Amino acid sequence: MSNNKEKVISFPHIGNYHTPITKLIENTLEGKVVLAPPITKKTIDLGAKNSPDFVCVPFKYNLGNYIEALDNGANFLIQAGGGCRFGYYGEVQEQILKDLGYDFEFFSLVDTSNVSPIAYYKEFKKINPKLNFRQFYSAFKLALEQVNAIDDIEKYIRENIGFEVNEGSFEKLEKSFHSDLSKTNNTKEVKNIYNEYKFKFEQIPIDKPKNPLRVGIVGELYVLMEPFSSYFIEKEMAKKGIEVKRFITISYLLFSKDHNEKKLIKYANPYLKYAIGADGTDSVARTKQLAESGFDGIIHIKPFGCTPEVNSMPPVQRVSRDYNIPVLYFSFDTQTSETGIKTRLEAFYDMLIMRKEKI
Ligand code: SF4
Repeated sequence: MSNNKEKVISFPHIGNYHTPITKLIENTLEGKVVLAPPITKKTIDLGAKNSPDFVCVPFKYNLGNYIEALDNGANFLIQAGGGCRFGYYGEVQEQILKDLGYDFEFFSLVDTSNVSPIAYYKEFKKINPKLNFRQFYSAFKLALEQVNAIDDIEKYIRENIGFEVNEGSFEKLEKSFHSDLSKTNNTKEVKNIYNEYKFKFEQIPIDKPKNPLRVGIVGELYVLMEPFSSYFIEKEMAKKGIEVKRFITISYLLFSKDHNEKKLIKYANPYLKYAIGADGTDSVARTKQLAESGFDGIIHIKPFGCTPEVNSMPPVQRVSRDYNIPVLYFSFDTQTSETGIKTRLEAFYDMLIMRKEKI
């Protein structure tokens, strides 16, 4: 790609986080952002068709996003690093796309788990050498503020959407929240939008029983946060009137995960003695936490072939046995049957209801 060309930047989707990522890029890098189209069946078909068989599902979704973004005019792609083999995926994806004949630049962030502004600044400066720290810091703060607002609002939605009186009321307001959030460009505005929408969400009429069915969802971060990849499992649970608890969000990954790891391993004892990589440690510790907090059931989700999550399954199963709490396991791939997921979820739900009535 010629150096004089304007940068048209894109990145893979994950949940609703494209707003803060876009703002961070627009406010720090020279160029414009072209979002990959929202994920559809075509995205994953493109990704799967051009990926090696052995890679996990996040690789395939990201690759599909890149192809669609390049087809829409992107010429500069960004990939995040990760605490598992994901950290090596950038190079492979770049080569695949080059072999497909695309002309672009590719940049892999080295380690996005270290949330220090200095570390991120050093990475972004490699892309834009003119970037100064002051400019970066205020853009970084804005993005983090937006991430926190999204995570807090979505937590409220997960806990209450299953009990809305007027179907679609949460979803409608959520769309409007994301649209307003995408127009903000300073932290004060983000705080105002957050407060305004938190209030509005709390005003939505719900009919929530005192003791609703509560299910925790644990597992690998991509399938937890990108609803398309888990066949909108949280939405399916909400349709059944279930309150959903999920720990993993971007703010959790950025601010708490690493600091908490030792504590989580200690807490997960005797089921776990060492970290088992990526989100596996979390899955075991959180399963125990959910069991001790009186949740009715747990759903463990992972991409097919995800080693850290495969490792977490035996200890999760032991927690399930010792605390007598049911766990339903799902493994997602590009060929997963949606009907199969719905049927198993239905059976799990019936079992939880019967169990609750008995208790
Ligand atoms: S955590 Fe598992 S699924 Fe996610 S990128 Fe790593 S290996 Fe793949």
